[in-house]
Amino acid sequence: MTDVAARLTNVRSRIERACAAAARRTDSVGLIAVSKRVAVERLREAVAAGQGDFGESYVQEALPKMAQLAGLGLTWHFIGPVQSNKTRDLAEHFDWVHGVDRLRLAERLSAQRPPMLGPLQVCVQVNISGEDSKSGCAPQDAPLLCAAVAQLPGLRLRGLMAIPALRADGLSQAPFRALRELFETIRRTIPQMDTLSAGMSDDLEAAIAEGATRVRIGSAIFGARG
Ligand SMILES: *Cc1c(COP(=O)(O)O)cnc(C)c1O
Repeated sequence: MTDVAARLTNVRSRIERACAAAARRTDSVGLIAVSKRVAVERLREAVAAGQGDFGESYVQEALPKMAQLAGLGLTWHFIGPVQSNKTRDLAEHFDWVHGVDRLRLAERLSAQRPPMLGPLQVCVQVNISGEDSKSGCAPQDAPLLCAAVAQLPGLRLRGLMAIPALRADGLSQAPFRALRELFETIRRTIPQMDTLSAGMSDDLEAAIAEGATRVRIGSAIFGARG
């Protein structure tokens, strides 16, 4: 077994245990392997170990990897901050964009999505911990932004994404709970929303306990990034 395969097995069992603890089905949580700054050979190891969803944060780095792994039926998630001069690359090459936090960006992505690819799957990013440095819309702005994004023909609004601040005291459940409550509120008017994208290597258990349906795991699969 390769290093990557062994780490993947370990992450999958963490997800299973977290689901069991939350009385959730294991298949209610999808694993996105975050492969930013990871060489394409390591991605191949993950693919050989059955991983099909990958997350990238830098467009320039992602596009060559996607070309090298074309034809393997992989699903590509853009999880970095969306810059307006990169929307065309995102719309033309990715399956999902998790970091939509402004209507202007959503409109560009929708207009630039090639119709033959079908709608781009998107999550609205929420700055759930209220950090100055983080992208994401303010929680109170999320309902209106979601309602507007849901109307765009080139996009399919799937849910919310957040990167809660890591807390040294380990009490990281609170922001995930706030995210879930916001998600449930918005879902009352936009029932198509089925995705809560939250949880990383250090906090996937807390995220799953609070309803995450997609966890984005990098270092626990590929090791520390160089
Ligand atoms: C890098 C990154 C991850 C993965 O982080 P790890 O701590 O390595 O698991 C998840 N989500 C986003 C948005 C990231 O940028």
